[in-house]
Amino acid sequence: MKITERLKDKRKIFSFEFYPPKTEKDTARLYSTIEDLQDLNPDFVSITNSSTGIVPHRTTGLSKALKEKTPFEIMVHLTCVSHTRKEIREIVSQLKEIGIDNILALRGDIPDEKEFKINSDYTYACELVEDLRTMGDFSIGVAAYPEKHPEAASLKEDILNLKKKVDAGADFAITQLFFDNKSYFNFMDKCAQMNVNIPIIPGIMPITNYKQLSKFTQMIGVAIPKELAENIEKYLDDKESLMQFGIDYAVNQSLQLLEYGAKGIHFYTLNRSKATKQILKTIMKHSEIKN
Ligand code: FAD
Repeated sequence: MKITERLKDKRKIFSFEFYPPKTEKDTARLYSTIEDLQDLNPDFVSITNSSTGIVPHRTTGLSKALKEKTPFEIMVHLTCVSHTRKEIREIVSQLKEIGIDNILALRGDIPDEKEFKINSDYTYACELVEDLRTMGDFSIGVAAYPEKHPEAASLKEDILNLKKKVDAGADFAITQLFFDNKSYFNFMDKCAQMNVNIPIIPGIMPITNYKQLSKFTQMIGVAIPKELAENIEKYLDDKESLMQFGIDYAVNQSLQLLEYGAKGIHFYTLNRSKATKQILKTIMKHSEIKN
């Protein structure tokens, strides 16, 4: 069932994000993760895509494999910043052949021109959404940023740009990860004021490794609240306790989001199962996420 259909349902939905593995070892780990998470019966899983434009086959390949080997509803991330319209048409036609009904339409981060020859017909994701609407009957998602996209001058400007994606035909959005629920609630209020009325599913990433996390969050412009940073620092030399702390934090974050109206949760799994599995099992005990 397409994501748009699932979103009409009263119950909460949840989903997992995976990235295409590069090595045999990573591939084995991903399949073990998938096996471990399969029983949780997610509403959909999403497969990321590199913005360089040189390896779309990794994403289509994994999507095809999961379509054949698993019962998952699949959403494919499609970045346009390094593609011509002709290339996008070709990728979309492959996705149709595989039987993909859901696409997350993204611009992608602008790759370093020294490393990649960028030959693009696209400047913003809204242009891709508009094209996808003419290419098939897809359920189309887009990215949203509760703490604003790093290139945007203000949150208001970024929401106006989100609205352009909605006006172009986006059905729903998934947010960038965040650690302070206040930023999501504030964002949702502003979206409502600015007539952005599509479902906006919060994206949650369990904290498992602080060093990686602080580098990554700086890069994508996401704040780590002071109190959270202080708590994490207590567990720097204790991986197990950090993992448990991260799980508890994500459980509390998710429960509050669901209680205050979020339609569901999208988990950034980083191709690992342990934290996501524990978080979801705990959430399910607490709330009516599934019938
Ligand atoms: P856009 O919506 O085009 O926005 C980019 C910037 O331009 C923003 O600052 C926006 O305010 C501004 N803007 C947008 N439209 C206009 C307009 N019409 N006029 C003027 N300014 C405008 N990256 C990957 O490479 N691969 C992935 O698989 C991937 N998956 C993601 C999944 C999620 C859920 C999220 C939240 C992000 C993901 N990203 C991924 C990261 C994303 O590609 C980057 O954040 C990228 O820099 C912006 O992509 P976008 O689709 O949000 O771009």
